[in-house]
Amino acid sequence: MLEPIAVPALSDNYIWLLRAPGHPAAAIVDPGEAGPVIAAVESHGLEPAAILITHHHGDHVGGLAEVARCYPGIPVYGPATEEVHGVTQRVGGGDTVDVPALDTRFEVLDTPGHTAGHIAYFGGGVLLCGDTLFAGGCGRVFEGTAAQMADSLARLAALPDDTLGCCGHEYTLKNLAFARAVEPGNDLLTERERRAQATRDAGHPTVPFRLGDEHDTNPFLRCDEPAVRAAAEARAGRTLDDAVAVFATLREWKNSF
Ligand SMILES: [Zn+2]
Repeated sequence: MLEPIAVPALSDNYIWLLRAPGHPAAAIVDPGEAGPVIAAVESHGLEPAAILITHHHGDHVGGLAEVARCYPGIPVYGPATEEVHGVTQRVGGGDTVDVPALDTRFEVLDTPGHTAGHIAYFGGGVLLCGDTLFAGGCGRVFEGTAAQMADSLARLAALPDDTLGCCGHEYTLKNLAFARAVEPGNDLLTERERRAQATRDAGHPTVPFRLGDEHDTNPFLRCDEPAVRAAAEARAGRTLDDAVAVFATLREWKNSF
């Protein structure tokens, strides 16, 4: 089981460091900024062995050149269908990424929607989901369709409940406030929101999240729930044919929430 370390960067991003307990080796995920991740590597005494990139947005790759210069020779994995300068190994759904220093093999999953070539990595009990799945929410659909994004989320939701989700931003409280607007009667959601508020009040990250908690409280993974569907239909003012239509309505609603 890998141990994820959240490194706050930019305004609300997280860069992730993954390490195997008892070993100095680490993988660096989505270095949007170089300074914080280099400082965290030094303070934890880590030895970077690989860099993993989920998508091309600047807040996920802006520090890549400097980080790669700092740790020369380590492989940089990134999406096969996106242009990311500095990526040395382009990978897509069905590929695997071996990081021997972490004794870990990651599965690569295609997760288009936020960007057209967005990928996620799953291995060592950890999901690196970039800006596709967030704690209590999901990413905006910038380059794909609602159907693609719903399909990508379903692929991630099928992973084991005890998976630790490492996402790209601290959006949890805003996401849970929206989730409450959708599902005010969900007691697990109320309890999660209370815990997340206490965590933020103490100055800590609310992530990684546990995938099982997303099934219970994240409206974007609950489009088949009658209460979620009813809320989306009330918002749309019409009957919605399927889960994708429910998802699309929720996503639009959240954009202006
Ligand atoms: Zn992004």
